[in-house]
Amino acid sequence: METLKHWVNGTWYEGEGTATVDVENPATGKVENKLLQATKADLDYAVEIAKEAQKKWAQVSLARRVEIMFKMRSLLLENQEKMAELIVKEHGKTFTDAIGEIQRGRETLDFACGINAALKGEFSSQVSSGVDVHSTRQPVGVVAGICPFNFPAMVPMWMHPIALATGNAFILKPASATPSASLFTAELYKQAGLPDGLFNVLSGDRHLVTDILKHEGIDAISFVGSTPVAHIVQDTGTAHGKRVQALGGANNHAIVMPDCDLPFAAKHIAAAAFGAAGERCMALPVVVAVGGIGDKLAELVKVEGEKIVTGYGMNEDSEMGPVIDAKARDRIVGLIDGAEAAGADVILDGRGFAPEGFEGGYWVGPTIVKNVPTDTDLYREEVFGPVLTIVNADSYEEAIGIVNAQEFGNGSAIFTNDGGVARRFKNEVEAGMVGINVPIPTPVAYYSFGGWKESLLGSNHIHGPEGVAFYTKAKVVTSRWPSESGTYSATMSFQREE
Ligand code: NAD
Repeated sequence: METLKHWVNGTWYEGEGTATVDVENPATGKVENKLLQATKADLDYAVEIAKEAQKKWAQVSLARRVEIMFKMRSLLLENQEKMAELIVKEHGKTFTDAIGEIQRGRETLDFACGINAALKGEFSSQVSSGVDVHSTRQPVGVVAGICPFNFPAMVPMWMHPIALATGNAFILKPASATPSASLFTAELYKQAGLPDGLFNVLSGDRHLVTDILKHEGIDAISFVGSTPVAHIVQDTGTAHGKRVQALGGANNHAIVMPDCDLPFAAKHIAAAAFGAAGERCMALPVVVAVGGIGDKLAELVKVEGEKIVTGYGMNEDSEMGPVIDAKARDRIVGLIDGAEAAGADVILDGRGFAPEGFEGGYWVGPTIVKNVPTDTDLYREEVFGPVLTIVNADSYEEAIGIVNAQEFGNGSAIFTNDGGVARRFKNEVEAGMVGINVPIPTPVAYYSFGGWKESLLGSNHIHGPEGVAFYTKAKVVTSRWPSESGTYSATMSFQREE
């Protein structure tokens, strides 16, 4: 067992705090490592280091920053198996899934490799006699990223490549259950030639987060996590004068129209509901079946769900792993119990499941619940487990009413072969990311990612063009070069003659 340290100023940092928390393997329930918890003094130190490093970094050429991003990209590719294994052991998802999240995260590095193009400003010549105007964007300074447990590599990568490439320093606060991918990322940045002090990792609990939100040396906060915490981050961060983007939870719905290719829909719904044990903010926990197809759809998804091999993430045949901890498992089981008691039918039941040899782990098998009353917690809350809820509607109008009545608006999808209905849906649905026959419409990294309503607080979506806007401050320069000769200065005229 190891005690995992922090990473500050390009090296391991033990800090003043001696408190630790356990880091478990959710497949076995065994404690694998201890994780040091940072104090306010540790944060003060990291911020001071980051501030100094950022001042120099902002003067480094774009060409050099891009070169480091390219190097980081290739190091990540070379080391992705090692990082994936760290993720499997702390998160529980399958190795293939872990590789998948690293690849999706790497897309943001790809984008950051082209940051020189993204930072091009505007120029207007001769807006008035002899007057030109141009715009430029400058780094905000020190950025903190506060991350959830469920994508230990990808979610931080939505943040740090763009924050760094645009000239900022970054302090990452990973989730305590899954810190190792962040610490490994720090080692890779060091190898890539990123100057010390620009990428720092501090672990800690909600007290550390509160200190980050109030710290006068931190200029911007990127948060991804649950909605209640997103509210704390948004309120406290903005009250302390910081830019904040806070992405929250979700309860994504898909509408399934009777004209769609039902077997195709069932296959993709099963993958979206049960993949990564439903621990994705873009998972699909609810489908609204339109026009009497609910039972047929439920049976088809059940066939797909029964095929899923649930087991240890490092086993080659595993397609789904455990949930993150005992508390999550008990909560998910409680939500299924509650819906059942309210009259819902559990037609595929993952309660009590555990693969042989892994009985100490935190397992819930794929579960399908139909005829779910919409006033149950199973329907209303974010389940964050491998549970699919099926509700019925008589028409598209009723279905879109159900979808838009919920408090979240992260992603939403429709399955249909009718272009007219699909077009209405994409215009009418209250969600930030929309899929048409695509159940998990996670945007590629050169677009931005974010939801509506309780799924995103603040105005900026994350990564892509909105990421560049978030991590930079706009400046507009109006200039005039008065001279006797009018438009050209004496020096310019001299050069022209030469
Ligand atoms: P969480 O909100 O519990 O934790 C997120 C971060 O906040 C962690 O680093 C944690 O240490 C910190 N934190 C927790 N409680 C806090 C408190 N009271 N005060 C201050 N900081 C606190 O989220 P989680 O359980 O780690 O992750 C799952 C959640 O994240 C789900 O709700 C999921 O939908 C959401 N999520 C959203 C997106 C998105 O893009 N919208 C992406 C991934 C995950």
